[in-house]
Amino acid sequence: MEDTPCVVLHTSRMNISAVSVLGLPGPGQIYGHNDTSEQMVLSFDTILPRPHATLSMDLDYSLRPGLEGLYRSQFTAADGTNNTLGTTQFETSGARLAFPCFDEPALKATFDISLTTTTGLTALSNMPVTATQDLSSGDTTTHFATSPPMSTYLVALIMGNLTSVSTMVPHPEPGQPDRNVSIYGTPDRAGNLETALDITVKVLPAFESLFGIPYTLPKLDLIGIPDFAAGAMENWGLITYRETALLIDPQHASLPDLRSVAYIIAHEMTHQWFGDLVTCDYWGELWLNEGFATYFENYGATAARPEYRFFDTFYATQASLGQIVDAKNVSTHPLATITGVDSTGRVESFFDSISYNKGGSILRMMRAFLNNRRIGDESYGLRRSLLQSDEDDVFIRSLQQYLRANEFSTGTSHKLWETVAQVAGLPIARWMDQWTYHGGFPLVSATLQGSQVTVSQVPFTSQGPGTCDPTNTTGTPPWWIPLPFTTNSEDQLNWSIQLDTCVGGHAALINVDPGTQWVKLNAGQYGFYRVNYTQPMWSSLAAAATVSDGGAGTVLGSEDLAGLLDDAYQLSRAGQLSITVYLDLIRSLAQRPEPLMSAWLVGASPLVQIYQSLSMAEGEASCAAEWATFVQQNISNPVVANVTAGTTKGVSITGTISGTDADSESLRLLRPTLLSLAGYFNMTAVSQEAVQLLQDNANDVLGIDPDVRQLVYTQAVANGGAASYNIMQGLYLSASDPSEKERNLAALAYARDPDLRQQTLEMVLDDSVRSQDALSLLAGVAVRSNAAAHAAWSFLTENWAALFQKLGGDNEASRMMGKATQSIASHFAAQSQIDAVNALYTAHEQYLSERSYFDNSIDSIQANIQWLQLNAEQVCLWLAES
Ligand SMILES: [Zn+2]
Repeated sequence: MEDTPCVVLHTSRMNISAVSVLGLPGPGQIYGHNDTSEQMVLSFDTILPRPHATLSMDLDYSLRPGLEGLYRSQFTAADGTNNTLGTTQFETSGARLAFPCFDEPALKATFDISLTTTTGLTALSNMPVTATQDLSSGDTTTHFATSPPMSTYLVALIMGNLTSVSTMVPHPEPGQPDRNVSIYGTPDRAGNLETALDITVKVLPAFESLFGIPYTLPKLDLIGIPDFAAGAMENWGLITYRETALLIDPQHASLPDLRSVAYIIAHEMTHQWFGDLVTCDYWGELWLNEGFATYFENYGATAARPEYRFFDTFYATQASLGQIVDAKNVSTHPLATITGVDSTGRVESFFDSISYNKGGSILRMMRAFLNNRRIGDESYGLRRSLLQSDEDDVFIRSLQQYLRANEFSTGTSHKLWETVAQVAGLPIARWMDQWTYHGGFPLVSATLQGSQVTVSQVPFTSQGPGTCDPTNTTGTPPWWIPLPFTTNSEDQLNWSIQLDTCVGGHAALINVDPGTQWVKLNAGQYGFYRVNYTQPMWSSLAAAATVSDGGAGTVLGSEDLAGLLDDAYQLSRAGQLSITVYLDLIRSLAQRPEPLMSAWLVGASPLVQIYQSLSMAEGEASCAAEWATFVQQNISNPVVANVTAGTTKGVSITGTISGTDADSESLRLLRPTLLSLAGYFNMTAVSQEAVQLLQDNANDVLGIDPDVRQLVYTQAVANGGAASYNIMQGLYLSASDPSEKERNLAALAYARDPDLRQQTLEMVLDDSVRSQDALSLLAGVAVRSNAAAHAAWSFLTENWAALFQKLGGDNEASRMMGKATQSIASHFAAQSQIDAVNALYTAHEQYLSERSYFDNSIDSIQANIQWLQLNAEQVCLWLAES
């Protein structure tokens, strides 16, 4: 440490007066402020005391509009009075909007916080209250206990008119005090706090036992905030949520809503260890926060609600998405980046599917590999063993050690893998080097000859295959890949094979029984890679896809089918496989009567995407109409009939859509997905019944089965003209429950009539729509059809400045605008639209924090153009022949 008369602090947009250092004569001065780095230099006439100096500052600060920093959120109470809540959102660089600080995750400090508010309001922070003091002014000062060392982005302050429920959770160590767990909301949410409390008190002990370290703080509060940009924020001891992500009415909530609340509670609670106790060392290592939360949210949610089968949808909802983003040159980046993370915009773009979904998938792959090597051959029972945290779980033991070694400090990828390597006794740090410090992921190719499968790898990209090169001169070095496989004759995962060369040598040769009909690699979909097979192997897999439980031999399960469909479709998009492979597979799947949850969650959306892509072919002959007829006759109608055969009589919303209480969670989750597919492809029984149901229940919509209420709303608005639209708009304006309001608003985006659609677009800027919901409404309109996407694009470009203003006019606003641009542009396939994206960027550059959203927009338009060139003709030919 050197002698200095200066201090450099992060700060942004505040008036600072009266700067002084305790013990120094005379005030300090603000010597300069850099708007780009958001830093100021304070200078003093003399050298500052060592080793500690106490700095004092007076700040003039109002609650901000917008959704970051210390901002205001507004709500109307049941008695009609308007209330304002003061709340914070600091990750990543919002703390400097509230107070000057060293605003970097590695610079941890203890915090002593006091808040003076109007008497009667609730004041909350990370730590429990130690004292309150009524002032003669009529205000009250609340003092909070000193925090442990923590990063600035995790500090939270909330004040307002609030209500709560609480319970005590015993400490896992004897003699230690119980911890107070509370759920807070605005007073009108008083009836919707209990579900979250029940989930939280189950997740907390599950994580304490899994991670081997008790929760650090004496209390834990979770709170629903009426205006909130993201889904939630893991502030240590005071977790903030969008209202719909936390406060739920279990009587009237759908299964996806209930699952999502459990997920997101468990996600933020994982962060209390991975993120808050051990923080990523710098933002380039963000995956150490978000990858862990993405994986372990499944564990925590399962502890609270085992019947919801969270791990079963990991591949379909998490890994699959991560692979799509990681395959694009424009959006891929290494999990851990050493450089290029110093500007706000660059930091924010790390909150993507790579840090979350790829990060979580890599952890899952490693845990499955380590457990199976040791446990041996648990085959499909592995999924159950992954839930347990017994001492045999090498991966969990190494994580416990990593947490203990780095608590109250920071972690890095290097520290993590070194610890896992040491505990497992394997060269894991070397194996994970390519996965951690290089973008992208591999494509494994398999060839069956006689009773041997040979394997090789190249990098997979959406532009086509890359080159594998062990010398790292003309291509990418090989990844280390665990290759579990299954065949028709072995009902178990075989984990014996690993591929760490470009072309598998003797060690990576898979031996199967002579006469084996099919081989499936990446069995169970634990690995973060794609697999391509020879045409005969694909054909046998498509034939096997029709075989149900109860058939002879091993049956392809839902996860494996999801992987096959996803690989086949994405390979065809990248020009590396004929699209007919995907088409044959999905047609096979429609024969199966089981509710194959993962397979349909992954497999259904390409059917819609293909229709939309075919419709994008401007000025050319298109077979979009023929495609729609084909899907209806061969896929959507049969699958609805097959999957729901045991539960209903015929196709009817009241019968098929609502089902019965005895239906499995898989079927409950799948039913709306399949029926909205059927509705999209014009199954009139679905659309007509939806219109009727909405009309009949307009005065008591909560009487409609919550699992399908969203489906009924969207199908009714899509097919019911002005009458249904007006009912929905009325419901939206009068709804008080945020979840119900969200459903109503999402449905309004389904209007097909251009005038009604325009009404929805105009609501985006209307006061009746909160800023947090405005852009998802706009993106929701764009997804409906080509005409709708063009209408949404015009609305975005014509109202850019007003929208930006509505969102608060800050960095968070420009990020939200970037994401909306990207989402709408993904529905176009013409060079003229690329020009339009560039023109939009040029016109509004001053509002934007980064270019990447626009690069991604252009990339997806190019990908659509490429898809049409590669696949449109093939699809049309295949339709003509089938
Ligand atoms: Zn997170």
